[in-house]
Amino acid sequence: MMKALALLSGGLDSILAARVIMEQGIEVAGLCFVTPFFGPESARRAARQLGIELIEHDLTTEFFEMMRNPRYGFGGNMNPCIDCHGLMLKTAHGLLGKYGASFLITGEVLGERPMSQTRGGLNAVLKLAADRDLVLRPLSAKLLETTRPEREGWVDRERLLDFSGRGRKRQEEMARKFGITDYPQPAGGCLLTDIKFSRRLKELLAHEGFVREDIELLKLGRHFRLGPGTKLAVGRNQAENVRLLESAGPSDTVLRPERPVKGPVGLLRGAADGEVLEAAAGIVGRYCDEDGGGEVTVAIYRNNGRTGELKARIWTDSEVLGQMI
Ligand code: SF4
Repeated sequence: MMKALALLSGGLDSILAARVIMEQGIEVAGLCFVTPFFGPESARRAARQLGIELIEHDLTTEFFEMMRNPRYGFGGNMNPCIDCHGLMLKTAHGLLGKYGASFLITGEVLGERPMSQTRGGLNAVLKLAADRDLVLRPLSAKLLETTRPEREGWVDRERLLDFSGRGRKRQEEMARKFGITDYPQPAGGCLLTDIKFSRRLKELLAHEGFVREDIELLKLGRHFRLGPGTKLAVGRNQAENVRLLESAGPSDTVLRPERPVKGPVGLLRGAADGEVLEAAAGIVGRYCDEDGGGEVTVAIYRNNGRTGELKARIWTDSEVLGQMI
């Protein structure tokens, strides 16, 4: 039986593309990529709905490498969409043999997105793919060059589609027809399109590099730059405080307000000399429930053990904002 690998982000387009090919009696397995910027959750839901196998592939190392210098640059934020799609297709091509599949499917729609899905964008993506002739885009196939699966009769081109543009009507109609009801809104799910996350990431990369743990930390709390290699993250709620504690590595310093004062966890990463520690304590103090007459006492922990405490002046709002990323 003919088999295809569908790049399954979990968005509606990717679900429909897989479904259209399944309609032709072709076996489809979903393939989703995982990095610190996007995960497999939506794809898992989509694969369950479609009743297909899902292959989850960690792309972090190659993704970091690509992000250092994406050939087609970034979109509105830190999203290198063309290079990202190209890398996914190249990687997926390398997995065809492993999963016994003959070609690739994507949910790309001509003209739907400004950068990666213009005609030029779709072609640029193919330039980065290992074998453009094996990449089928069922939703816009009739508007695009024929591919090997069509020429060889593995799929019936007549039963493929001619979707184009930003409108979602035809996709929604088709979803209703197939009984697909559970899908996320378009353009969600990738942190690289998020303006706030992108700002933090840019700042991090200017000072440090692509370190997975540092990038994971960007998802949590408020962030402050306290030195070229030193940053403080402060929890915004109980759940974030717990996650910050879980994120603390052996060279991190954790600050917690001394009871009975209630306040957030501060996670200091990088050099923590006296001045930096005082600054970190002053910022943590700014988010405590009581102002303690302008002073806060925090307990200091390293490697899960308490190493001492520190009394510091609580920073003013403008001081805090001055260091916030
Ligand atoms: S939005 Fe994110 S996951 Fe999607 S193509 Fe762009 S960079 Fe890649």
